[in-house]
Amino acid sequence: MTRDGIADLVVFAGTVVTMDSDPATSDGAEGVAIVAGEVVAIGNRTALQARIDETTRVVDLPGAVILPGFVDSHIHPVFGIELTRGADLSRCRTLADVESALRAEVAGLSPEDWLLGWGLDPNVFGEEAVSHAVLNSVAGERPARIRFFDAHAALASDAALALGGVTGREEFTDGSRVVTDEQGRPTGYLLELQAIDLVERVLPPLSFEHRVDALYEVLLNMARGGFTSGQVQDLAPDAIPLLTAIEETRDLPIRLRMSPWYVPGTPIEEVVRLAALQGAHGRHWVVEGVKLMIDGTIDNGTAWLHEPDCLGESTTSLWLDPDQYRNALTELDRRGIPTTTHAIGDAGIDFVVRAIDGLTEHAATHRIEHIETMTDAALAVFMSSKATASMQPTHCTLFTRADESDNWSRRLGHARAGRGFRTRDLVSAGIPLALGSDWPVAPSDAVGILADAQLRRPHDDPTAQPIGPDQALDAMDALRGLTVEPYRTIGRTGGVLRAGAVADITVLDRDPRTADPESLGEAAVLLTIVDGRVVVDAGVSGVRGSSRGGRR
Ligand SMILES: [Zn+2]
Repeated sequence: MTRDGIADLVVFAGTVVTMDSDPATSDGAEGVAIVAGEVVAIGNRTALQARIDETTRVVDLPGAVILPGFVDSHIHPVFGIELTRGADLSRCRTLADVESALRAEVAGLSPEDWLLGWGLDPNVFGEEAVSHAVLNSVAGERPARIRFFDAHAALASDAALALGGVTGREEFTDGSRVVTDEQGRPTGYLLELQAIDLVERVLPPLSFEHRVDALYEVLLNMARGGFTSGQVQDLAPDAIPLLTAIEETRDLPIRLRMSPWYVPGTPIEEVVRLAALQGAHGRHWVVEGVKLMIDGTIDNGTAWLHEPDCLGESTTSLWLDPDQYRNALTELDRRGIPTTTHAIGDAGIDFVVRAIDGLTEHAATHRIEHIETMTDAALAVFMSSKATASMQPTHCTLFTRADESDNWSRRLGHARAGRGFRTRDLVSAGIPLALGSDWPVAPSDAVGILADAQLRRPHDDPTAQPIGPDQALDAMDALRGLTVEPYRTIGRTGGVLRAGAVADITVLDRDPRTADPESLGEAAVLLTIVDGRVVVDAGVSGVRGSSRGGRR
């Protein structure tokens, strides 16, 4: 008896969305058959029955929808372990909220512990200057530090500043800044990575074993959120040892593609080291591409704008000499290494898109991340440049408001805020656009991203006004942003279900092509399959969303 054609796993549902340009593949399809991590057949129940014997695992989810596994095009899972230590402040809307969250956190700490927190939205300060007063009052002598939601800023208490030896007179090579008051004393507000690191490096470290388990949990949560793969926009110092340690005992919950940084100001010889890292891999992770950053963030006044923001900030690149960025990009391209570049402000986007447009070889694909406020002129260059795009719809919907009362919009002013998050313009211009979360900046929630990209407001807040509704994506463009486009934007193909494709599959309880976006935002992820392996089975284990009507 031969096992020829017999599947390891067959999944039946109501519909199969293949994202294949050939619609014949999905016509009448009700399931997929998988052998050794590969899709071998897509078809109706009768056709797939021939693939089943007593060795086959069959998962039957009538009414559910099978999709290519979702890819989050922008995540920081390893940095996220550190970035999410302590109190979760991401839901705090006022300073009083922050204070009570910190008091609750401090109550559970031992005397030697630091008070830590993360996810702080600068809007809690309203019109007031950002300062560490709340940290000093809650923590007292205990060192305390909290991270802002965007990971580009931190707030340290006086005790933490003292431990870090921070004086306010430091100088940096990456546009970092220790903010000081009129007397030159640090206010606790630390902007960008080198400044944040002054305090971060004296924080008691987590043990390696703790980090291994924490990373596994982070990745499992991403699988629960519907993702089968993530494009990691960093290569954290111990990322490879951590992933290796996980793979010694189990499989990663999702695939990872990790792009190490070319840090502003680094000599061009850095390209040799980055080239040598390319292709390092485990079973489900690979080092590929290089991540660069042309600027910081609007919220912290470290973006690069053509004209200053309303506080006179966001006027320069993180590169003291932006031409060094151009040289690095050119050298990486010459070696065929794809890049992703963080570019948020209009001048930063303008500079990067022109640098990509000016490449002579185009030996690799170059993608621009974030693209928060963009001029028409930059969009025009984008179209000719072969640059691709990666954006985070929930950064628009969760951190800005239609009435422009939020910090991001106030800093930019009406005209530039009105050119915010131009997803529709990019797609209409034919530019490949991948979508993602930038976790831990925003939640790793695939259906939330699909919903908010269409609604331009938080899907779970029907009272919120849409922000720039003319920039909304339609259902198919949003879906392409989590399936086909994450591959196309890095010069690869994928995100399509067909015979021969890798068996990375997401199963939802409703069809993202036709569901009302508000309802889509509440969709349950029933199944996440990575490399033919069922990682999340919410229908059976009830891990997530089993009470939301997934089983019919
Ligand atoms: Zn990022």
